Parts: sequence; structure tokens; C-alpha cells
Amino acid sequence: MSWEVITRNNYPCKCGAGTYTYISEMDDWSRTRVKYILDCNQCKEKYFFNEGFFTSKEVVKISTRFQQEIDKYVEELNEYIGVTYYNFWLMMFSACKTKKDYWNELKHIKKELGIYPQSLGTFYKDVNRYENIEIYLLELFKHYSKYKTGDHFLFDRLMKLMDISDKKIDEIETRISKVDLEMKEELKNCDSLV
Ligand SMILES: [Zn+2]
Repeated sequence: MSWEVITRNNYPCKCGAGTYTYISEMDDWSRTRVKYILDCNQCKEKYFFNEGFFTSKEVVKISTRFQQEIDKYVEELNEYIGVTYYNFWLMMFSACKTKKDYWNELKHIKKELGIYPQSLGTFYKDVNRYENIEIYLLELFKHYSKYKTGDHFLFDRLMKLMDISDKKIDEIETRISKVDLEMKEELKNCDSLV
């Protein structure tokens, strides 16, 4: 079995001083594969080169450093919310007696959170995958309250719905946005160097 070159093209590299080569090949069974080869030493030093895409090593280094710090704060926030507000979340269901009551309550909550409500049948099926309804609600709470940088719409809606105003949460959120901003600033400076 052998591979035959079908296409072989050179393109200018990122720094402009050299090239990269694109090669597509086919074997006896008409299977194809594609290869990219970076021919520029300058670019090899500055970039990760993958499938024809250049990624600045400096950008990766900076993002990784800041991201680690952000991840740490996000984890702290998620943990704090779990420990502090889980019982409060359960109390929202304290009037529920039957599974249908839980479904009804969740329907209202989901509407407030901007989530499409489930049918009663799907809800029953979902709950039955868990040991009991409390564990199911815990999973839901973990999911809804999970803070993500860049996209914490659901988180914000949940805090509003549960009427939570907490200095500790504000303080961690401020830390996260500060580091996020610092990262963006540093990346901007880095971009102008590339
Ligand atoms: Zn180059």
C-alpha cells in the first residue's frame, strides 16, 4: 500500500519570511490524508502550527497563566454557592408533596431562568434516573449555579430568582472580571507585537 501525492502547494507563512506546504495524498483504496509542513524556522519558534493554523506561543502562555487563576476563583465561587445556598434552593420546593408538584414548581423556575420547561413525562423519566428527588434537585442546582466566565447569564438569573445578594459572591466575581480584564489587556499588547 502506498500513498500518492495529489496536491502539493506552498503558501506564505505567518511572518512572511518563508512558507508552509500543504500536501494531500491518496492510497490504493482511495483513502485520502492531508499533511501540513512548516518550512520557516522563525515561525517554528513563535507559533504552534497545526492543520494549517498558526497559534502564537506567547498568546498561549499568557492565556494559560491567567486562565489558571480564573479557574481557581471560579471553583471557589462554585463551591461557596453549593455549600451556602443548596438548602435555600431546596426550600423553594418545601410546599411540594407529589412529583407533579415538583414538576410544576420547576416549570415556574425554568421560566424565570429562561429555560424551556419539560413535559411531565420527560420530568418523570429524568427524576427516575436518580436515587431520589433531592439528589435530582441537587444536580439541577449544580448545573444552574455553575459560574462560567464570559457566559454567566443563567447564574445571574438564578441569583436574582433566589434573591441572593451576597458580598462574598460579588467579591469573587469582581476578582474574576479583574483577572479577565488583565488577560485581555496583556493579550492586546501581545497582538501588536505579533
Ligand atoms: Zn515564517
